[in-house]
Amino acid sequence: MAKYKIKQDLNECIGCAACTAVCPNNWEMVNIKGEEKAKPKKVEFDEDELEENKEAAESCPVEIIHIETKSGDKII
Ligand code: SF4
Repeated sequence: MAKYKIKQDLNECIGCAACTAVCPNNWEMVNIKGEEKAKPKKVEFDEDELEENKEAAESCPVEIIHIETKSGDKII
């Protein structure tokens, strides 16, 4: 079972693509109703992908990417 999960406030995404630049493994741009937004390819992942997803969260200028453990402890 995956250890971590992503919570993202997609409505607030400004489509800057910073997260996809630092973590192309798990973040991609998608077109939602004519607007460019970033979405995680996987919302749950393990330790080996924690660092790159943390970097994606840290790169977000509007701070809408959050990572929690599966038990709900906030990582970022
Ligand atoms: S860094 Fe944040 S605002 Fe920019 S595309 Fe990613 S989720 Fe959206």
